Amino acid sequence: MSRFLSSRLQSLQAYTPGEQPRDRKYIKLNTNESPYPPSPRVLDAVSREAVSALNLYPDPTCKMLREKLAARYGVGEDMVFVSNGSDDILNFCFMAFCNKEKGMAYADITYGFYSVFAQLHCVPSCVIALKDDFTVDVKAFESCGMNVVIANPNAPTGIMLPLEDIKRIAFANRDSVVMVDEAYVDFGGESALSLLPECDNIIVVRTFSKSRSMAGARLGFAIASPELIADLELIKYSTNPYDINRLTQIAGAAAIDSDEYYFDNAKKIIETREYTAQRLTAAGFKVIPSKANFIFATYPGVCGEKLYSILKEKGILVRHFGSERIKEYIRITIGTKEEMDVLCGTLEDIVSGKGN
Ligand code: PMP
Repeated sequence: MSRFLSSRLQSLQAYTPGEQPRDRKYIKLNTNESPYPPSPRVLDAVSREAVSALNLYPDPTCKMLREKLAARYGVGEDMVFVSNGSDDILNFCFMAFCNKEKGMAYADITYGFYSVFAQLHCVPSCVIALKDDFTVDVKAFESCGMNVVIANPNAPTGIMLPLEDIKRIAFANRDSVVMVDEAYVDFGGESALSLLPECDNIIVVRTFSKSRSMAGARLGFAIASPELIADLELIKYSTNPYDINRLTQIAGAAAIDSDEYYFDNAKKIIETREYTAQRLTAAGFKVIPSKANFIFATYPGVCGEKLYSILKEKGILVRHFGSERIKEYIRITIGTKEEMDVLCGTLEDIVSGKGN
């Protein structure tokens, strides 16, 4: 840290992204990417011709992408916002809707970036503890009187909050914005999009990084009332109007036209998730029922960090979080069936004493 860093940032603790190692080849189950490549249409769309136009700025309005998303989700174009990954959108939400008087409420166990954004923008946060079974304390959110951000399904647990509860939270906080981060909704969750006609204070935030196999392209979108979308546009045009590059706009449009391919992949991932959960449960693990493309698992008497380290040594990367309530767990992204067979076999060996 330099002596020039603003005093308000001196204690900022940045988000720690999952490892993207280059040292050796791992079975990579640590950052919830899709194990499948982007659709063939996407591969064809990013042509030499597309690359050769990179001397020109991209369309700052992202018209093609927004039109396609609007048609796909049955909303007006003025209800769609696109940006450089959903992290960007979440950041914009903190900038647009929070200030010293109006903070953000979020769960104690959830996506780690929310608390970083709160610190970054000096926004008060209300951290609401999940219940013992890691479900959301809906009543506490109802009475928070703040903006709210909820990952649904939640990360890293994979637990889904029923839409009825989201609606209660949105109704109870009419003068605040409720961001529903649906990064993992395509793996069996229920989208809050259906609540938008009744709740003009909900913003649904989505990403192309998971079910649409495009984490490397950085593309996220939000759907909400035209007024809330205009607020996000204000922030975008005050920071980086060209935040989605040409190739990502082209790839994204082709991805929206490839629903069948992505539905099939999501179906395979869901089947592989259930298979993995059953096999690990049979081996003595406690696996939290997940609606996402990952599972959160623990083995009695073996700490999560140890499992993480042994797996890493054996060439399998998973994610471990050190915070007190979840340090016994590891989060395992669902890969291909073959990858999960290797993972399950390795974990079975470790807990039966053969693998360490
Ligand atoms: N929300 C949640 C809950 C996530 O887990 C992630 C992925 N780390 C994101 C948002 C951000 O995804 P992206 O920026 O790749 O769209």
